[in-house]
Amino acid sequence: MSKLRLHGKVAIITGAASGIGEATARLFVKHGAFVVIGDIQDELGQKVVSSINSDKIMYKHCDISDENQVQELISDTVKKYGSLDIMYSNAGIMGSSTNVLEMDMASFDKSIAINLRGSVLSVKYAGRAMVENKIRGSIICTGSVSATAGANGPFGYTVCKHAILGIVRAAASELGKHGIRVNCVSPSGVATPLSCGTYNSSASEVEMISAAVSGLKGINLKTENVAEAALFLASDESVYVNGHNLAVDGGVSVMNTGLA
Ligand code: NAD
Repeated sequence: MSKLRLHGKVAIITGAASGIGEATARLFVKHGAFVVIGDIQDELGQKVVSSINSDKIMYKHCDISDENQVQELISDTVKKYGSLDIMYSNAGIMGSSTNVLEMDMASFDKSIAINLRGSVLSVKYAGRAMVENKIRGSIICTGSVSATAGANGPFGYTVCKHAILGIVRAAASELGKHGIRVNCVSPSGVATPLSCGTYNSSASEVEMISAAVSGLKGINLKTENVAEAALFLASDESVYVNGHNLAVDGGVSVMNTGLA
């Protein structure tokens, strides 16, 4: 398809030094957007920028749990490009793999700070910039299968991902009045440093585990598939989609895994 679906749009993607965010940055640039990556892995982020090799992408250090840094990421972007049309709040951590009984509260607090507070800050300041500049923008958050199911992942992660849907729905109701849409993309297991690190597995092992539980036999979820869903929500093709959770999980979240 030759149509540039984000021609001239300005996008911020957090957590794009790696994984899903990186794949999305590549796709958004390919579709004509100016993209600012906000991440804490500076070297990796710069490498992504060099490998995309376009004047449409830049990297800025931003710890999303830090209010000043999020504000600065957004205000610098608006200053440089004159707009902010798309905010993709994607950065996240899985945190240590514990259940509620053994949970270490320091690791729970870290998950809240990054996955929850970081997403709130991203939505708050992006929404504010869009309202102030009268931009009918698109805000997207990355949820997960853990946003709707009590999955077997770390307890704190599941709590935060459920809350992402709360952020999306509350912000969609509020910001819709300004013509701003807020939606969620919820992937299932996809091989990235986050999933490989959590399960201490190689990319091919993560793919094998994901394929085994997927509702779509024989197809592995790739970061590029998640990026395509984010592109849909970022583009004008989803102009009337607001407050939606777009599952990109091969149907695993709607499957009945219990006894019939
Ligand atoms: P990843 O580790 O490849 O990417 C996460 C990125 O977030 C990294 O670049 C990391 O540096 C960045 N990051 C972490 N803490 C940050 C902070 N405080 N400030 C700014 N950036 C920070 O992992 P991924 O799988 O691409 O994860 C992206 C999103 O997808 C996360 O929100 C994750 O929860 C979600 N997700 C992943 C999977 C999966 O199986 N990989 C499944 C469902 C949802």
